[in-house]
Amino acid sequence: PSTIHIVGGGLAGSEAAWQIAEAGHRAVIHEMRPVRGTEAHQGDGLAELVCSNSFRSDDAQSNAVGLLHQEMRTLGSLILRAADAHQVPAGGALAVDRDGFSAAVTAALEAHPNVTIVREEVDGLPPAAWGSSIVATGPLTAPGLAAAVGALTGTESLAFFDAIAPIVHRDSIDMGKAWFQSRYDKAGPGGTGADYINCPLDRAQYDAFIAALIAGEKTSFKEWEAATPYFDGCLPIEVMAERGPETLRHGPMKPVGLTNPHDPTVKACAIVQLRQDNALGTLYNMVGFQTKLRHAEQVRIFRSIPGLESAEFARLGGLHRNTYLDSPRLLDATLRLKAEPRLRFAGQITGCEGYVESAAIGLMAGRFALAEAEGRALAPLPQTTALGALIAHITGGHIAAEDAGTPRSFQPMNVNFGLFPPLASAPRNETGKRLRGPEKAALKKRAMTDRARGDLADWIAGA
Ligand code: FAD
Repeated sequence: PSTIHIVGGGLAGSEAAWQIAEAGHRAVIHEMRPVRGTEAHQGDGLAELVCSNSFRSDDAQSNAVGLLHQEMRTLGSLILRAADAHQVPAGGALAVDRDGFSAAVTAALEAHPNVTIVREEVDGLPPAAWGSSIVATGPLTAPGLAAAVGALTGTESLAFFDAIAPIVHRDSIDMGKAWFQSRYDKAGPGGTGADYINCPLDRAQYDAFIAALIAGEKTSFKEWEAATPYFDGCLPIEVMAERGPETLRHGPMKPVGLTNPHDPTVKACAIVQLRQDNALGTLYNMVGFQTKLRHAEQVRIFRSIPGLESAEFARLGGLHRNTYLDSPRLLDATLRLKAEPRLRFAGQITGCEGYVESAAIGLMAGRFALAEAEGRALAPLPQTTALGALIAHITGGHIAAEDAGTPRSFQPMNVNFGLFPPLASAPRNETGKRLRGPEKAALKKRAMTDRARGDLADWIAGA
């Protein structure tokens, strides 16, 4: 068996190590926590979730990330196995008890005879003596390694901002004003249709809240702030408020699909939702409330929300810089650095976005590394699968050969159907009639996920 070194025991590094170890090779994980921390990690467990506890939709028929879950389960993912075992109710989403989840990943890897975990910072490039190595150090890569990678690639790393939402103690929420209900009473796996806590605001309360968000004191940022864009799916709440007074009530605070049992006749102007954050149900996170308001301002302003007047916060929100590579230019189709092929990259540092996507790229990096160690060529994953679509986005496989030389601005992205090749023909219903509108969109997603399942099965059979 070969030994493959992995730097970083986060979502991607843990999954890569598992794939390698399960195939009979040895994986050595070098994880710097607790020797050195990051701005966002709180503990020393592997695969710690730094913000939300959600792996997003688990619907494999009509959602790209749900399809990615299913593909990862098919390929023996440790991250999905641990997530499934530590689910908390969250409507149609796969959300987890973050401590139970991280503990399960850590325990599985510690117990595996082919895995060694070394608690140390790799302060520079992995040494050449290690041979084939996987760098999975995430968006908060320690500076020494980040600088070494920057020097090797000859480019300034790209970066953007990512934000964290506050977490509230459940018993500090006034349920005389708030109530349990999922939007449209949707019950997902393990859910009841009443998974979220809802806090209603009337027009005057909402207007005052928006004004307070805009006027609230924000944390000051270094000079690079002005040049660094936000990740669009994770905008701070006060940045959304600045885009217009109605933006939030059409976004994370939309009052639709919910009825206040305390006063069913009154329609709320806006609603704040909180999602269960741990298995015990003692902690709830404020959905979509990532923020760079100063901590004291967060407490003051969020306590103006009806139901949260006495809220106790287990953690307040914050904002962090995120580092990633210009991967389509720098990485080959199996995630190796073209300039130094002994180094393979995985996880968010490759420019995917999200826990699931990071783990998915870790899974593939592990499989590419072990195929290489065994001297086998791994057939490229069809781009019609969620895993293949994601790899293609990162490695530039989607760029047509004729314009591969053209530099493009590469942005981190969640997996989505826009990354999949279009269907050969427009979907039709049983009567053969061409469809329009929502019916067409639903059938199209169904056809794309069916195609993915078939193509993944063929790929596995071939591999
Ligand atoms: P990580 O999980 O961060 O793992 C990298 C590991 O490498 C860490 O354990 C770190 O300690 C270690 N490490 C770093 N440098 C070194 C070194 N030199 N030597 C040894 N070890 C090292 N995604 C979501 O889906 N939902 C969210 O809500 C969400 N919120 C986010 C909030 C913030 C502030 C940030 C920064 C990211 C967020 N993300 C979120 C994005 C992303 O999904 C996570 O960051 C995810 O954890 C990335 O997985 P990873 O394995 O690439 O990196």
